[in-house]
Amino acid sequence: MLVNLTEMLLDAQKNKYAIPAFDISNYEMMKAVLDSCEAEKSPALLLGLGVDLSQKNLSLMAGMVKMASEHYSIPICFQLDHATDIEFIKQAINAGFSSVMFDGSKLPFDENAKKTAEVVKFAHSYGVTVEAELGHVGNAMVGDESSSISNEDPENTLTVPEEVTKFIEIADVDALAVAIGTSHGVYKKTPSLRIDRLNDITAICNKPLVLHGGSGTPNDQMIDAIKNGITKINIFSDVVEALNTGLKNKLNSITNIATWPAYVFEESRVLMRKVITNKIRTFGSNNRI
Ligand SMILES: [Zn+2]
Repeated sequence: MLVNLTEMLLDAQKNKYAIPAFDISNYEMMKAVLDSCEAEKSPALLLGLGVDLSQKNLSLMAGMVKMASEHYSIPICFQLDHATDIEFIKQAINAGFSSVMFDGSKLPFDENAKKTAEVVKFAHSYGVTVEAELGHVGNAMVGDESSSISNEDPENTLTVPEEVTKFIEIADVDALAVAIGTSHGVYKKTPSLRIDRLNDITAICNKPLVLHGGSGTPNDQMIDAIKNGITKINIFSDVVEALNTGLKNKLNSITNIATWPAYVFEESRVLMRKVITNKIRTFGSNNRI
């Protein structure tokens, strides 16, 4: 069953757990997430990034998830991740995404709020939910070598609590991504989450809160963040690492390079499911269905 974010995150908020949200780039990643979630009785939150959704890929990926959702007994949400172009968001909604993230975090406050409000108005008319970002989660996106080293001082880009109330008055979003010290990609040094800042935000905001850059963040810090109001944690690099490690091991171990692809992906599947299952159990989204 394909659903939007609301029901999933409100239950997570009420019962103080978080749902891991996994960016998927292909069928193997989708299958690993859905199989793990079904085995663990966890809601499944799938994310798609623009780089994997160009041209026909947008409809093909949306169609693939929609078709898959008819073969699993768990609720599944497919959210467009980090979209900055409103036209592209509209295309994704028309293609069948059940949730979208508008990322105006690099824009001035007023412009971010105004554009997010426009997305909310459009998306809600289709029953599609919207996540926005306030503050800015640093950049070291996988696949983008040029931005793998962030020069931003995280302290300068943390979410400012006073802005949250004003933002939500303008843009009535369904979930809000906050910057409290995590980064996208692979960390150069262990992050230290600002739980004090998170508490300042939850004291004035009742929207489900989202943590980006979950990969590589120590479990105890994420558990602390969940206790203090985080309901969705985005994961990409950890699963990509498992996928690629499995492929590397398998390809290095075979002599016949024309080996059947189903066999080549075998180890990747096992490693990805291990990572995904670990996140589900750590965040407490297992046994919720
Ligand atoms: Zn992110």
